[in-house]
Amino acid sequence: MLKDFFGKRKKYASIPSEQAKADVPEGLMQKCSGCHKIYYRKEMNKNLQVCPNCGYHHPLQAWDRIDTLFDDDTFEEWDQALTTGNPLAFPGYEEKVEKDQKKTGLNEGVVTGKGTIDGQATAFAVMDSSFRMGSMGSVIGEKIARAVENARVEGIPFIIFTASGGARMQEGLLSLMQMSKTAIAIKRFSESGGLMISVMTHPTTGGVSASFASIGDYNFAEPGALIGFAGRRIIEQTIREKLPDDFQTAEFQLKHGQLDKVVNRLEMKEVLSLLLKFHQKGGNEK
Ligand SMILES: [Zn+2]
Repeated sequence: MLKDFFGKRKKYASIPSEQAKADVPEGLMQKCSGCHKIYYRKEMNKNLQVCPNCGYHHPLQAWDRIDTLFDDDTFEEWDQALTTGNPLAFPGYEEKVEKDQKKTGLNEGVVTGKGTIDGQATAFAVMDSSFRMGSMGSVIGEKIARAVENARVEGIPFIIFTASGGARMQEGLLSLMQMSKTAIAIKRFSESGGLMISVMTHPTTGGVSASFASIGDYNFAEPGALIGFAGRRIIEQTIREKLPDDFQTAEFQLKHGQLDKVVNRLEMKEVLSLLLKFHQKGGNEK
């Protein structure tokens, strides 16, 4: 196997570097961020980026997450074309957004839409932390609020996977306003009898943790995810106390009643599918 790999590299050495970059498989091997063991990337992908040795959950990109959950070819994207402006004329903001658009192939840090999980229709939103650290600007808030509203109109559940470093500073107050906007849309959805499931993935912090991420009917998280509002250092300096090592982990939040369940990624589809089934409208009358 190794011989094949090096053999390939030799072959590409004679072609122009741009072409070589496109053809050589990028990062054949992957080092686990938890136990530092080395795996074939293919093997790690097959295990949904969960380390087979220590169970560490590596970040998943938005479309990979959709692939792990939805029935084949059922996902239909909403508001794909919504992109941010530069409302405060913040220097360098447009360039930063453009760079991340190129890097991720996404227009913004969230993908919304609907599809079916084991044949059950649901609205869906998934944040991608590789786009501006999943920071919440006006487009993220707007896309999530619209997805919730669509779910209400269509009478289907809403599932969201969050990952965020907090509010997007380049959009200032407009960014903070997304907290109340999404919360209001979710309240309206909830009052109409809608089911919302939130799954917090690493990291879910700041304004996102303090708004839509934590107000689902079910609030779940992936193992080891960092979940919190302010960072550890700020809290320690404010209260002048040392915080426990596992502070702000999913497991810590579960122990303190902030979560309903910590769900392993390999069981995620099964858990979500079961909950959708429990909450189907009409249940016994069918
Ligand atoms: Zn590992």
